[in-house]
Amino acid sequence: MSTASNGQGTGAGALLAILRDGRARTRGELAQLTGLSRSTVSQRLDGLIAGSWVVAAEDSISSGGRPAAVFAFNERARVVLAADLGATRARLAVLDLGKTVLAERAAELHVDQGPERTLEWVATAFRELLDGAGHDLDQVCGVGVGLPGPVEHASGRPVNPPIMPGWDGFDVPGWLGARLGAPVLADNDVNIMALGEHWAAGPEVDHLIFIKIGTGIGCGIISGGRLHRGAQGAAGDVGHIRVPASEAPCRCGNLGCLEAVAGGASMAAQLRAAGVAANGSRDVVALMRAGDLRATRLVRQAGREVGAVMASIVNFFNPSLIVIGGDVAEAGEQVLAGVRETIYSRSLPLATQHLGIRSSRLGDRAGVVGAAVMVVDHVLAPDAVDQAFGHH
Ligand SMILES: [Zn+2]
Repeated sequence: MSTASNGQGTGAGALLAILRDGRARTRGELAQLTGLSRSTVSQRLDGLIAGSWVVAAEDSISSGGRPAAVFAFNERARVVLAADLGATRARLAVLDLGKTVLAERAAELHVDQGPERTLEWVATAFRELLDGAGHDLDQVCGVGVGLPGPVEHASGRPVNPPIMPGWDGFDVPGWLGARLGAPVLADNDVNIMALGEHWAAGPEVDHLIFIKIGTGIGCGIISGGRLHRGAQGAAGDVGHIRVPASEAPCRCGNLGCLEAVAGGASMAAQLRAAGVAANGSRDVVALMRAGDLRATRLVRQAGREVGAVMASIVNFFNPSLIVIGGDVAEAGEQVLAGVRETIYSRSLPLATQHLGIRSSRLGDRAGVVGAAVMVVDHVLAPDAVDQAFGHH
């Protein structure tokens, strides 16, 4: 098989990759874009139409004469199952290939009950959601799972996850795949949220940092349009960067970590020490919304602490967009103000000239949308599509 200059090959996968931007195109346009003859384009399109990946329509607005046939990506061709598992909460969704949520469920689910019990619940809930949305397992092209700990992405196995007893090295894709009959991809929850926010920000944003401020703090890095996982999949673990002038003990065993100063668990502990009942990050935000001044000061200060660490990262990485998500980010302007204030005052002017800093667009759905992005990009990668079509 030859390879066109766009680096995506000349098979059916290359045509699908072009059409996935949502624009319908004529045979002639596709021939021009790929350098293939119109007859080859037609042959490839026939295969894609037979698989329902592409739909044909008449273009009524074509100039003069007979209307030309146009071809468009069919976002309804298959569905994706997505699970965003936190320490104690889960969000599951069925999405189409355009990342539209067709059905979803949020529930309390404790990952510390171990992988089999947790994933059994997930598999059952997926079947019920599919059923409710009028789909069946045959239409599922893949399953994406976000987990609250480090994951070796290639194998989908958690690696020494601190808050997931029994999960170390567990074959999440093998176990779920056997029950759902579709390929399963797993990654760290912050990474999939970054994928979701990158998709929501649009393809023109190539360098993005997503920071999750919840019970803990972590970030996902999109570099050159792709998720940067690092050598051991540990990239973006900003929660354990040392904050100068702090000696606060962290759950990792070190002193003065960002998470120990600005994480939701730490803020709740500080409020408890002051005699205020607060159990976690969501309580802190609820108190702030109710007008509690101590909670408001803490959240604002947490924003500054996060901003101070991010200022160094901005100088180092030069992102064009920073997106803030997680429970504490629900505090909105109070957090953003602190983050912005510190980043803009401490980063180099050139690095912040066109830097956007905003809160999450997808909110609670960032994880499930990102899991769907991960799956769809994998399943519809040109090579994967060509293989499925046997290089016809
Ligand atoms: Zn730490």
